[in-house]
Amino acid sequence: MKSETDKMKSNYHADQKGYYGKFGGSFVPEMLYPNMEELQQNYLKIMEDSSFKKEFNALLKDYVGRPSPLYFAKRLSEKYNTKIYLKREDLNHTGAHKINNTIGQILLAQRLGKKRIIAETGAGQHGVATATVCALAGLDCTVYMGEIDIARQAPNVARMKMLGANVVPAISGSKTLKDATNEAIRAWINNPVDTHYIIGSVVGFHPYPDMVARFQSIISEEIKWQLKAHENTENPDYIVACVGGGSNASGAFYHYLENEDVQLIAVEAAGKGVYSGESAATSILGKDGIIHGSRTLLMQTEDGQITEPYSISAGLDYPGVGPQHAHLFNSKRATFLNATDNEAMQAGLELCKLEGIIPAIESAHALAILKKKEFKPSDIVVVNLSGRGDKDLNTYIDYFKL
Ligand SMILES: *Cc1c(COP(=O)(O)O)cnc(C)c1O
Repeated sequence: MKSETDKMKSNYHADQKGYYGKFGGSFVPEMLYPNMEELQQNYLKIMEDSSFKKEFNALLKDYVGRPSPLYFAKRLSEKYNTKIYLKREDLNHTGAHKINNTIGQILLAQRLGKKRIIAETGAGQHGVATATVCALAGLDCTVYMGEIDIARQAPNVARMKMLGANVVPAISGSKTLKDATNEAIRAWINNPVDTHYIIGSVVGFHPYPDMVARFQSIISEEIKWQLKAHENTENPDYIVACVGGGSNASGAFYHYLENEDVQLIAVEAAGKGVYSGESAATSILGKDGIIHGSRTLLMQTEDGQITEPYSISAGLDYPGVGPQHAHLFNSKRATFLNATDNEAMQAGLELCKLEGIIPAIESAHALAILKKKEFKPSDIVVVNLSGRGDKDLNTYIDYFKL
């Protein structure tokens, strides 16, 4: 194992100021400095503490249900004439990888003596994962959610309420995820002392991208020993993951970043087509900019106004990517591909028919590249199945007229 300081010297992990190459950092209003500095100074210390690790690992095992299986998808492999493994984050409690991060952050918040939790959510998946861990820890929970998303995602709003969270509509701007994030940051400025803000992806200012990646790194930690048991090697030829903000991809890539024999494939949502004006393919359409306190690639107009992203999957519908992904793209360490709504929906249905697994539409974007990229019969391809499709049933029903 590398020490934490070694990681900071690596090309692909955050440095001490939260930079990945030229991306990352912390561009926040002065009123947030005390909160930010408290986190920056304490997150590694807390995460490396043995009592923290013990509690985190016990909850991942007994509450989340980890390790999540690494499943050899036989019929899918036959169809694409290569060896495909699915990392089953869909089997986690609450149905996706997001709980890995919220469990970590709630334990951290408790150690910082915080009494209240705030969070932003788009489709409601991160809101549900946050409300869940707040119930678990007995902490007060407020989730900011765009007014439009509240209307679109009624079942998740109901789940959050059942779990005891207070759901507050964000009524500014486009009334979606980025506005909910702005509201959450504003609320934090107003309640700095007793409140912790749980961000749901590897976005935002330092230390969030690095902290969230570390909590999600359990995904690649498990892939290593699980693949060893299946194939007698820790290293696949490819790891494929969808990218919204980038947390499931960061977790699936984490322990392979330095091993350049393992090719990393990040899949973005191309919506109705990359250049259709309705897309979320940030690596192609984005330019350097600052969003939510971090320098990264960002979809924006000539004069720097953020462009509304679009994808059929609400979880990929973010106008930026985390700074690590901007760096992985720029340095060419990862290959960025994309899938349209239709390609993802077809790939989702194909997984249902071939493997009996209904994937989240986000995860279906990762599966869609099996049709777009040739793999050799001997290649080992690990696809991170970030979540299950129950939440997307209405979208599947409407799309396929079921
Ligand atoms: C939220 C979500 C995503 C996108 O978020 P990342 O931070 O990019 O991982 C992907 N898949 C599922 C199932 C999600 O819920």
